[in-house]
Amino acid sequence: MNSDKEDILRFGTEAVWAGEKEQRVHRATQVPVVVSVSYAYEDMDEWYDVATGKKPGHIYGRNTNPTVTAFEDKVRTLEKAEAATSFSSGMAAISNTLYTFLRPGDRVVSIKDTYGGTNKIFTEFLPNINVDVTLADTGDHAALEFEIQKGCQLVYIETPTNPTLKITDIERIAKAAKKVGALVVADNTFASPVNQAPLSLGVDLVLHSATKFLGGHADALGGVVCGSKELVEQIYHYREINGASLAPWDAYLLLRGMKTLKLRVRQQAENAMQIAHFLEKQELVEAVYYPGLKTHLHHDIAQKQMKGFGGMLSFALKGGMESVSILLPALKYANCAANLGSVETTYGPARTTSHVEVTPEERKALGIPEGLVRVSAGIEDIEDLLADLGQAFDHLTMEISKK
Ligand SMILES: *Cc1c(COP(=O)(O)O)cnc(C)c1O
Repeated sequence: MNSDKEDILRFGTEAVWAGEKEQRVHRATQVPVVVSVSYAYEDMDEWYDVATGKKPGHIYGRNTNPTVTAFEDKVRTLEKAEAATSFSSGMAAISNTLYTFLRPGDRVVSIKDTYGGTNKIFTEFLPNINVDVTLADTGDHAALEFEIQKGCQLVYIETPTNPTLKITDIERIAKAAKKVGALVVADNTFASPVNQAPLSLGVDLVLHSATKFLGGHADALGGVVCGSKELVEQIYHYREINGASLAPWDAYLLLRGMKTLKLRVRQQAENAMQIAHFLEKQELVEAVYYPGLKTHLHHDIAQKQMKGFGGMLSFALKGGMESVSILLPALKYANCAANLGSVETTYGPARTTSHVEVTPEERKALGIPEGLVRVSAGIEDIEDLLADLGQAFDHLTMEISKK
């Protein structure tokens, strides 16, 4: 495991302090939620200078906002990027990034297992503007390299994937993409910047659904993309005109959540590992997917490029949805819900969470069993989570024996 102690220490401190002081007012120790849509100027020349970017400042809420700026600065610092810009949701970050750079006739290479919404952009929307999209088998690095070397403008990766936690070797794929001059974009939502730094592995742009681990409390929607100033400015321009701006209240909640990012994610990864070990021992469990397990297909790659294995795992239950429908409602300390990355442990079948947008046939083709359950480990005490799982499995065993 790549555990650079000094790096970790710096991360935790930055998570608390970065982006904050620049925005504070009235000696308040916290960043204000500036709900104002506009900013008034008495000096017409100053107004003009700010509006034309000659002077720093704010003009209109769709473009910039002080609370939003603090959030962007914090993420940018944690991803060690030159610049960051934010969005109203993770999907807005993804779509705005893709539409900023892609033109008719371009070719995109990605993987089959991207987030369901991202997959829809690739299969439904980009073909509409004559962008050719090739989706390689996730985890088949040779196939991905083969497609990239045929020539493409953009390579899009997501690792670990949703919901079967497949791993892509970021450094290897970024290298292949650079050879053909393609832009490399990585969705770092599942790993979070605590566990993975794609920019240091050769990626051009790293993006997040801030709704998940960054916010961490399932109470704010947001997205963010980080990278060089030159690239991020282009995406910012696309977003300020197309309008998917992050709201100040959400920015504040995300900013507040991020102060505890390292503590939360560390606890979530510890809990995820223990839940994975527990599930491995269950007779009614067919398979467990967690990059931290030695049995994971790409455990070695995960170990090389991640500092921790994250809070996400999944498992396939024998008996498919019928068993899932008995097990999940029996859990007391778990939300059965579509979100992930929150402080509460959350369970959901893939068919109603990550891959609700795709058909049963498409799920089958992606190798997602109908009995697959995604688990987002929370920060609760592990003894309680395992006891809860234990009683739910006892209940399932009893119900099955009745049949
Ligand atoms: C949730 C999620 C998204 C989409 O984010 P929203 O904030 O829901 O729009 C994108 N990528 C991954 C990996 C996600 O988990």
